[in-house]
Amino acid sequence: MVLHVEEYEHGHIYISDNGCSKSDYCATTDDKTQYGKLMTSIDGADECAKYLFFKAWNSEKPLIQEYILTMIPELQQRISNGNVQNLSVNHLLKVANQRLYKMGYTKTCPRCGGTGNYSFNQMYGTTCFKCGGKKIVLQTVTKKLIAQIKKSR
Ligand SMILES: [Zn+2]
Repeated sequence: MVLHVEEYEHGHIYISDNGCSKSDYCATTDDKTQYGKLMTSIDGADECAKYLFFKAWNSEKPLIQEYILTMIPELQQRISNGNVQNLSVNHLLKVANQRLYKMGYTKTCPRCGGTGNYSFNQMYGTTCFKCGGKKIVLQTVTKKLIAQIKKSR
């Protein structure tokens, strides 16, 4: 697998695996006036996976990065070693949230007020959208919450 990374004048980065060239239009905005400049080609499935992981990771807010690293301490070493080709940031965030849930950092669902039910709709009946009927949701991730979790270890 080879990834081609192109940059456009309006700042979009476009990544493709089908040999894009300078004549390609910006696929992100479908802007027919913008041509991309080939920044780099990355060869090899592992190298491509690493590139994509770090691109996603580096675009996360520092607070979210710190949250994920706090909830998944074993991740730090993998990031340092670049052993990230099998990881996805979305999945890491899910794991972090599952751990936060298990640790009990939840609050009453603000949408349904802890009843698990909300106004009726065709798709979900009266089951509350936000909590999925569980009556509780995760606490909002803040610097304070992260500090609290670190302290509790
Ligand atoms: Zn709810």
